[in-house]
Amino acid sequence: MQSPSKPLVVITGASSGIGAATAQAFSLAGYPLLLLARRLPEMEALNLPNTLCRQTDVLDRAAIKSAIAEAESRFGPVEFLINNAGIMLNGDPAQQSPEEWDQMIDVNLKGVMNGIHAVLPAMVAREGGTIVNIGSIAGRKTFGAHSVYCATKFGVHALTETIREEVSQKNVRLITIAPGMVGTDLIHHSTDEAAKAGWLDYAAKIGGALIPEDIAAAILYACQAPQRVCIREIVICPTKQEP
Ligand code: NDP
Repeated sequence: MQSPSKPLVVITGASSGIGAATAQAFSLAGYPLLLLARRLPEMEALNLPNTLCRQTDVLDRAAIKSAIAEAESRFGPVEFLINNAGIMLNGDPAQQSPEEWDQMIDVNLKGVMNGIHAVLPAMVAREGGTIVNIGSIAGRKTFGAHSVYCATKFGVHALTETIREEVSQKNVRLITIAPGMVGTDLIHHSTDEAAKAGWLDYAAKIGGALIPEDIAAAILYACQAPQRVCIREIVICPTKQEP
């Protein structure tokens, strides 16, 4: 395998949807990758060059760190971390199981924090690097049936902006990407059929959601800006999405 000239990119939740499309976009641009998710075969099936795929739950801090150490020994320091892994379990808050709330808080918030924890000290020490956190339009405004999901994504936006300010003098960038509706597996994990149908019906009504490649292009654009430029936030929605 020829050694790539570009720096290492780590992507969580790379086994489907936006994460998989982002892996393909960065790979096409010549970056070596570390892909993390629980489903290994889906990541390996992308068949990307200069890419390590490691079965990793974002709640497992030790596993994240050890995968990153392995990738860095091969490709050098992490230049870009894309904290993309997330889940959305929409539902009626009076009926929804608190276990679903726990899952969203764990993956969407603690998973992002675990990724940051694994790379931020080294980025601050070497005064370079970029962390991209995938927030949501639901991290800027509320949506019915999305209560806890919105709470986690508002949290991602707050976390990103707070840390951005704190490490700005160390030349480290933090970027929030806030997509609107994107056609992925995300909604299909909801157990509340009415909430799921509401999302899917609205997407159909507006002529379809965005595709994962639309978001991947925005992430790549933000990362490839010179280090002196911090694109703090990109909100990217279907044109016909009203709220
Ligand atoms: P997908 O369901 O297609 O992808 C979610 C990814 O997260 C999968 O690769 C999944 O991998 C991974 N993941 C989930 N739980 C864990 C975990 N515990 N550890 C590691 N990886 C995990 O959905 P999307 O591509 O749509 O979602 C990607 C991000 O985009 C999420 O943060 C989502 O909230 C956000 N987003 C999506 C929008 C949309 O409309 N689709 C809109 C706004 C934001 P695996 O199951 O293999 O672990």
